[in-house]
Formats: sequence, C-alpha cells, structure tokens
Amino acid sequence: MGELVSAARKRLFDAMKKAGVDSEACEVLKYPQETVAASIPLRRDDGSLELVKAWRCRYSALLGPTKGGIRYHPTTSADEVALLAFLMTVKCALMELPFGGGKGGIQIDPSSLSPHENERLTRSMTGAFRQVFGPDRDIPAPDMGTGPTEMAIIADSFSDGEGARRAHVVTGKPPVLGGLTGRTGATGDGAFIALETLAEAVGLTEPGRIALQGYGSGGRRFARVAADAGWTIVAVADSRGTAFNADGLDLDALDEAKEAGEGVADAKGVEAQEAEAVLETGCDLLVPAALGGQIDEDMVGRLDCRAILEIANGPVVPSADQALREREIPVIPDLLANAGGVVVSWLEWVQGRTEMPLGEEEVRDRLTDRMTSRAKAVREEVGKLDCDLRTAAYALAGKRLAEALRASGAAAYR
Ligand code: NAD
Repeated sequence: MGELVSAARKRLFDAMKKAGVDSEACEVLKYPQETVAASIPLRRDDGSLELVKAWRCRYSALLGPTKGGIRYHPTTSADEVALLAFLMTVKCALMELPFGGGKGGIQIDPSSLSPHENERLTRSMTGAFRQVFGPDRDIPAPDMGTGPTEMAIIADSFSDGEGARRAHVVTGKPPVLGGLTGRTGATGDGAFIALETLAEAVGLTEPGRIALQGYGSGGRRFARVAADAGWTIVAVADSRGTAFNADGLDLDALDEAKEAGEGVADAKGVEAQEAEAVLETGCDLLVPAALGGQIDEDMVGRLDCRAILEIANGPVVPSADQALREREIPVIPDLLANAGGVVVSWLEWVQGRTEMPLGEEEVRDRLTDRMTSRAKAVREEVGKLDCDLRTAAYALAGKRLAEALRASGAAAYR
C-alpha cells in the first residue's frame, strides 16, 4: 500500500476517532476492494507500437456501485489512482450519494495523442476494463486529460461489447448522447456554492482576490462564476505559466489564448510568470485546481493567502495540515469543494437509468441544494467537534460509512 493512500486514510480514521466512531469500517477501508492493472497497446499514427500502463481501482462499494473519473496523465501511478479512489469513497459518503468510490488512470501525456490515437487508446482501455466497468458496478467519469469525447468513446465501446446500449456506464457524456449540459461546469459551480456557504466560516465575507492554479474544466468555470460574483482573479496558472494582473485578469483574453492553443501566460494584457509562482501570489483565496500534492509543509511557509479552496483532489498533503492550522489558513476541503461534478454525475446516471430527461434548471437546483446542505452539515460538525473543516467532512463521511456497514452486515461488502 502506497504512502499517499496511508496518509489520506489516516485523516479519515483520526476524524472518526474524534467523532467517537469505533467501527469495523476502519478495517474494511484499510485496502482497496479491487484494483486491476492493465498494459494497453497503443498503435501510433506513424505505425509504431507503445505499451501504456493503466489502472482502475474500486476502493469500496459499501455504499453503491463505484464512481470516479479516469485520468490521462504522464505521471499517474497505481498509488495515485488508489488515493483518488479512496477520496471518491469518502466524498460520495459525505455527499450522501448512492455510490462507492473508484478511479482510473492511464500513464500517457494526452497532448501527445492525435484524435485517432486517443480513440484507439480509449477503446482498448475500455476492452481491458470491460469486466470492471458496468452501469451497476463501476461508472467512470472525466478527470484530468479526459472529457466528454472520451466518455462517449467508452460508452460506445462498452455498449458494443454488451450488444445493447449502456450509455449510463459513464457520466460526463456529450448532452446529445445522454449527458447533461450542466455537467462540464458542475465542479466549478459546486466549488463556488461551497465557498459562498462557508465564506463566513473561513473569514471571507466580502469578494476578494483569487489566485487559481489550473485552468481546465474545474478551474476555468470556477474563475468565471467567481468573477461574475465580484471576485478579482489576480493570477491564473496552467502547466505552461502563470498569468498575473494585480487589477484583475480579463478572462475573455485567457479563453482566447487557450482557444488559440496557447498558454494563459501568453494572453493579452497579462504579466507572464513561471507556473509555480501562482501558489505564492498575494491573495485572499488560493484555489488549487490542477494536480495533487502541491502544498507541502515547506510551501505552507511561502503561502500569501487567507484561505484555500481545494478544487483539485489532494492538493494539500496531509503532513501540511498542522502547519496550515498554525498559520490559521482555513481550507475548504476537496471532499466537499469539488463534489459538484459527482453530484451532477449522479443526476446524469439517474437520467440514463430512467430515460426521463432532466432540465437544466432542475439540475442546477439539485446541485445547489445538495452542495449547500452538505456544506452546512460540515459547518455544524465543526461546531460539534471543535475541529477544522476537513476533519468535520471526514467525520461525517466516516459516520455514514460506519452506519452502512452496521446496517448491512458483512455480506454487503462484495
Ligand atoms: P483538466 O485536465 O481539464 O485541467 C487541468 C488544468 O491544470 C489545465 O489547465 C493544466 O494546464 C493545469 N495544470 C497541469 N499541471 C499544472 C501545473 N504544474 N501548474 C499549473 N497548472 C497545471 O483537469 P480538471 O478536470 O479540471 O481537473 C483538475 C483537478 O480537479 C484534478 O485534481 C481533478 O482530480 C480535480 N477534479 C476535477 C473534476 C471534474 O469534474 N473535472 C471533479 C472533481 C475533481
């Protein structure tokens, strides 16, 4: 078992202890339920052959079929995939969704793939994990480096193998193929709802300055919603650099640069800085929305923010928690902050099972209700346990997992 997962699991078990939960759930959640590793042959357009590593982990199906994204990234690993599957288990429990937690990863740089290579790789990956995936077993969604196109390919390829349409084996599909228009923006929208609900708890009652790391599907939407609500986005980074403007960045200019295939730091009217600079930018709210493991103990000393909102999964490493407490920098944790995506994925899955279309307004209302009510529950738990937001979120999730285990008996763990 890798270090990443052990450290994250300790956060859960410590929070359960603090909440007075003594449960066999701790034993049951010690290791992933099932992990499949595959080597996938990729035929490049130039005729060459490459073998690509991939993993799919179903960490726990205690609360329902496993749910979680698939990441295409050059440095993803078995340990990272297990960590993310663990986080999904805890997140779905916190959000009171009928899902367990899973995650997948392919060790590939998605920018190196032509559209045809991407399709071949995604179809081969679906074949490799055919026994794992299933609308009632394990339901992938987009994550870093994947989006609606990859989900459409998985749905098509999986359905081919079943001899019947099974589009709800994935969520995050293009709307014309059974997706929901609100899914792409759901993570950013949900993060902003969590921020608004907990603004007072983190001492940010007025819109202030934001520094954002990551301008992909989560970060880009969040920036737009926050700017519309009066926040000033002073820094935005992508993998190529940071765009900075003390008076506030013009998001249209950033979008234009991205559409033209450039980095945000190439946009008009910005001061270009190194990608790493974003984390040390002076701001009220730092929003990591790219990779995990960005803020360690050393980085905590260099932060110049008043609060952190985690859109990325695991951007603050567990060993930095104490240093953040000492510096009194509150964190709205990933479990809650980025859960909008899985909430809307749940709605898409329900739509797929029932074939009853959900309207945009209904999706928006349900997302707002669930994000607000679970953020309030976390705030109340902080009061009960006298702890930080992350501990409260883990405690609520841990209590639900323990209750599920108690209610169903060991037979439910299959
Ligand atoms: P994405 O691939 O759409 O975008 C990732 C962004 O991060 C890109 O702008 C990329 O350039 C940037 N980036 C990569 N390396 C960087 C670096 N070293 N410095 C600065 N920027 C860098 O990915 P996404 O779907 O937005 O996911 C981002 C994070 O949010 C991940 O941690 C993911 O697990 C998490 N998340 C995403 C969703 C979702 O619905 N998309 C849901 C929950 C959590």
